[in-house]
Amino acid sequence: MNYFCSMPRKNKFHIFENIEVIDTAAKGKSVAKSPDGRVVFLSNAVPGDIVDIRTGRKRKSYYEGKAIKFHHLSDKRVDPVCEHFGVCGGCKWQHMNYTDQLAYKQKEVTNNLIRIGHLDLPEITPIAGSSKTYFYRNKMEFSFSDSRWLTEDELKSDKTFDDKNACGFHIPGMWDKILDIKKCHLQEDPSNTLRNSIKEFALNHGISFFNPKQQKGMLRTLMLRISSTGEIMVVIQFFEEDKEKREALLNFIRDQFKEVTSLQYIINQKGNDSIYDQEVVLFSGRDHIFEEMEGLQFKINAKSFYQTNSSQAYELYKIARDFADLSGNEIVYDLYTGTGTIAQFVASKAKKVIGVEAVPEAILDARSNAELNKIENTVFYDGDMAKVFTQDFIIENGKPDVIITDPPRDGMHKKVVEQILNILPEKVVYISCNSATQARDLSLMKDHYAIERSQAVDMFPQTHHVENVVLLKLIHK
Ligand code: SAH
Repeated sequence: MNYFCSMPRKNKFHIFENIEVIDTAAKGKSVAKSPDGRVVFLSNAVPGDIVDIRTGRKRKSYYEGKAIKFHHLSDKRVDPVCEHFGVCGGCKWQHMNYTDQLAYKQKEVTNNLIRIGHLDLPEITPIAGSSKTYFYRNKMEFSFSDSRWLTEDELKSDKTFDDKNACGFHIPGMWDKILDIKKCHLQEDPSNTLRNSIKEFALNHGISFFNPKQQKGMLRTLMLRISSTGEIMVVIQFFEEDKEKREALLNFIRDQFKEVTSLQYIINQKGNDSIYDQEVVLFSGRDHIFEEMEGLQFKINAKSFYQTNSSQAYELYKIARDFADLSGNEIVYDLYTGTGTIAQFVASKAKKVIGVEAVPEAILDARSNAELNKIENTVFYDGDMAKVFTQDFIIENGKPDVIITDPPRDGMHKKVVEQILNILPEKVVYISCNSATQARDLSLMKDHYAIERSQAVDMFPQTHHVENVVLLKLIHK
């Protein structure tokens, strides 16, 4: 291949010509090699493309760049369905066909387990793809802004843009810039209709959009939850209060969208828009909706956590339950239990399940859901895992036969891993949304545990994110 490397004045960027894109990388990027042998991370290419690249400034040992000319388009490519693709940070892999997305996810997990964890792997069970590859999210959060992001095409056009109001997503890395979204392919209707109608009503009735720099304006965020049972929750967060205008908007939603079963609002005048320390006020309907899984009911309020891809969460939980292979006599710990969904999902197959979670409100939800589901063999505790999960805690609750653990992206605290190694339960089922930290944690356990099974699960089609479930069995020496 004819490589060419030019070094423009001031050495600010490079142009590399005719380079083949060879792999995917973290954060939805793809990888090529520069003629000088360095890795180049690309934001807009698919493995198999042959491209000219313009780099940004060189980092220590790699470049970041963009394909500026495509000589050959990869056969892994598909046309992105979304008009916002490439600007919106949401679905970075929409330009790659779903089969290849799955193959790269699987590969990333396996590579991490081998390269970071230096682990011996069994035959890997193929990744579980999502039956829905679009419109799979049950929850979306949009932001309002009066200083909309103008796309490159808009800037290049000679039009003037008077309406700067937007409702959509943050431009990656820019806290004050919102991309106006006309149609998002992640949540089924009436999600788009609701968002667009709320925006239009606000514009027509002089309801101002938030300006984060000056901290002014009324409309701040919109959260939409559409559950698998068909219930719909709308939560609007306002910054400035104007009772008349607020009620006009809320009345409009209530009257025009009869399918909305829960309409709530928040008036939040803090600097940031996190709702967790805010009062959520019920305007009409109920203050919660329900999700359902295998006959279990999960009550969800505005602040509750629930896995965002409901049908794929069911697949994930089934894999975890299958790996745990419970007989009914086991004491099971569900670490990082959230609202206790996994604990309740496996409860009928266990003697007792103990759930632990940092967020006290989630634990209140877990307890009330267990009561709702008439489950009597679960107990839930709140607190920081590294502090709660102690020897005294084990003495009080019983030695676990099986630990199911589902930590956040950072993985488990070292003390938590050490405590598992003190207890040495027969089985550990480790669910992870970051196989790099999972590999790190598993490497600390490999003298005592063998990996019996490993299966990746795709909860987020069109993105690079992937979950992985590993079954560890105690090695008896
Ligand atoms: N298993 C749950 C949620 C997993 S998400 C489900 O399937 O729905 C990870 C959870 O870990 C979150 O609920 C988060 O609040 C909790 N968490 C994060 N850090 C924690 C810590 N240090 N101690 C206890 N829980 C923590």
